[in-house]
Amino acid sequence: MQAEIVTIGTELLLGEIVDTNSTWIAQRLTTIGLNLYYTLTVGDNLQRIIQVLEQSSGRSDVVITTGGLGPTVDDLTRKAVAAATERELILDEQLLKEIQEFFAQRHHTMSENNRRQAYVPEGAQIIHNPVGTAPAFAVEQNDHLIISLPGVPHEMKYLMKNEVLPYLEARYDLKDVIRSRFLHTCGIGESTVGSKIGDLMGLKNPTVGTRAHPGQTDVCITAKAENAQEAEALIEPIEADIRARLGDHVFGADEETLADVVTELLAQRKLRLSVTETVTQGELAQHLSQASKGVETFAGGSVLPTEKNLQEVLGIERQLFEEHGFPSQAVADAAARSARTMCRADIGLAVIGPLDPVAADAPPVYFGLAFADEVLHGASHQGRTGPAGRGWLLHLAMDLVRRHLLEIA
Ligand code: ATP
Repeated sequence: MQAEIVTIGTELLLGEIVDTNSTWIAQRLTTIGLNLYYTLTVGDNLQRIIQVLEQSSGRSDVVITTGGLGPTVDDLTRKAVAAATERELILDEQLLKEIQEFFAQRHHTMSENNRRQAYVPEGAQIIHNPVGTAPAFAVEQNDHLIISLPGVPHEMKYLMKNEVLPYLEARYDLKDVIRSRFLHTCGIGESTVGSKIGDLMGLKNPTVGTRAHPGQTDVCITAKAENAQEAEALIEPIEADIRARLGDHVFGADEETLADVVTELLAQRKLRLSVTETVTQGELAQHLSQASKGVETFAGGSVLPTEKNLQEVLGIERQLFEEHGFPSQAVADAAARSARTMCRADIGLAVIGPLDPVAADAPPVYFGLAFADEVLHGASHQGRTGPAGRGWLLHLAMDLVRRHLLEIA
């Protein structure tokens, strides 16, 4: 059984946006044991899309397209699939009703353009899209299946997970399912992880490998088996072994982020956290507020890049800067206390460092974690630059919160 991905959009072709859809889909196809032989990108040109679809559906059992299902004239996927499979485009009344309801629920007027989205190739199987207006569909031609999904990543992922993957698994009775578990760790480098689990990294099934990201090392356990249960059964004992060896460095698994875990721990303890910082340009607040329990646990945040901001907004006395310097642990502590009271939070987190912590002689970045009656300290001396540097800081800061929350379980 052979699959192929076709991503559609001129902005992808020209490199204006990165094609993350195909990598995400490729990883998921592997998990259900469907072989992926080709991934193609084609621009918004009707003739070329038709040509690609004819070629792809001629050689692959399943072709998954993303993009080009929107309401504008350059959204050509419907037309191209119809032409490649020699069908008419017909209006699907039920689909039209759903699109109208989508707009009505949001108190928006549906534009005439959106009617376009209710047209599908004759005989297509509709894949209902409750998370957007671009309807998806599947067309079968001579035992070859073309599945067309929206380009917007979160819509595509929702439909893949909830509709397409279960359908493909059932339909093709796929063997050799591959399942992976990603264990996420922080506060431990890849080489140390490697030395603790090195013997497991020689296993054949499941395989065990590591992947390093800024501030985080993942351990990936991948098993191949006849079905999902068997694959899970192969993974389970190895996962337990690795968790035991790495202890509380393991903060989560699979799609969980450190921010998710921190906000989950806060929610379990009915605590709210506020942050103030001079260095991550708002990323810390963004991660925490967007995390799974961010809405109920994130009490507010401020980005205050200069000493003057810290004095004026948080009311930290100038004398403290004169006595201890900037950045310093004393300023981080005071900022954490002020952040906590200003946002009426239970915990205040401050990340205080030079705006540009890149220079070789740059001072460290200080962390303060303020509770009602104490302030915990932390510091980062790693001096890395750009997004990777911020990634390290974010992980160190959030891990300080996580470890403390685990202690007050
Ligand atoms: P809609 O009209 O509802 O947006 P669509 O199916 O027409 O859906 P496109 O217009 O092709 O989707 O893409 C919408 C947006 O989705 C793009 O501007 C881009 O931000 C994102 N996108 C599209 N394709 C990809 C892709 N392959 N990888 C990552 N992002 C993508």
